Amino acid sequence: MRKRDFERLVESLPGLSPAQLRTLVQSVSTLSGRREVQDVTDKRIETLAACPHCAHETFARWGRTKSGDQRYRCAGCKKTFSSLTGTPFNRVHDKSKLLENAACMGEFLSVREAADRLGVHRNTAFRYRHLMMPLLERHQPGELAGVAEADEAFFKLSYKGQKRGLPRKPHKRGTPASKRGISREQVAVLTAVSRGSRNSFIAVLPSVPSAALVGAALGPLLRPDTVLCSDSASAYKTAGKALGIVVRQIPRGTHKLGPYHIQNVNALHSRIKAGLRPFRGVATKNLHRYLAWFRFFDRGAGAVTPRQLLLDAIGVAVTNTD
Ligand SMILES: [Zn+2]
Repeated sequence: MRKRDFERLVESLPGLSPAQLRTLVQSVSTLSGRREVQDVTDKRIETLAACPHCAHETFARWGRTKSGDQRYRCAGCKKTFSSLTGTPFNRVHDKSKLLENAACMGEFLSVREAADRLGVHRNTAFRYRHLMMPLLERHQPGELAGVAEADEAFFKLSYKGQKRGLPRKPHKRGTPASKRGISREQVAVLTAVSRGSRNSFIAVLPSVPSAALVGAALGPLLRPDTVLCSDSASAYKTAGKALGIVVRQIPRGTHKLGPYHIQNVNALHSRIKAGLRPFRGVATKNLHRYLAWFRFFDRGAGAVTPRQLLLDAIGVAVTNTD
């Protein structure tokens, strides 16, 4: 817009009625959210540097889409695309809220809280959240070096959201497990972290932790000189033997064995439980996703930004999170 036209626009504002002002504020806020999101999503095209349809590397700007996004046209297949073509976000009607949604996720807000803040229906907030999660699972540490601590956390088996075909009678919210301790009513999550690192390994196990499951999950991450610390469960001893690495087990009823302990991994469990508390139980079928989400932000305050979550969700790898 020309400078003079803009000045006229600003000068005309005092003449607006309260209702017109509210409409204007709403439009400005939507537009500015949209621009911020666009700024992030444009990075995808920069990173891809190729047509999402045919991977041809020559393409040019080609007007704008109906919603105001930059459109591109491929010189190879002649098809047009925008920065979100080929991602699930392409079908999101109002993209202006995506960055704010990522901010809500950084704060681990419940769906209702996020819906309130975004001014959308809770089903929409739920959908936004689930669009953000699938790619997060590719982040896990490449290796566990030095002294690595491993332990399991247990979550109650939950069929939340499932309306048909329940293998048992539905529970009222908050029903405690009928058996104490580890049972078929619990899901085991294997966690491990190298001492001095916040880059933790978190994986849902398909059944009760056995030496085979522990070995298969941790084996590829452990270096020959890694010392694995665990509680007294025999699965770790057997897995360590099979993998040929040293395992130091903290005897039951004590907190450490010489310089070895599992306090870092126990602290991780506390953070996971606290992080997932606002959701009041996560459906077991979604647990791996919620854990990946928790993991993404569990790097100390401000280490990962909402902008990085959105970038990651549209397939632009965020380098400091593997
Ligand atoms: Zn193409």
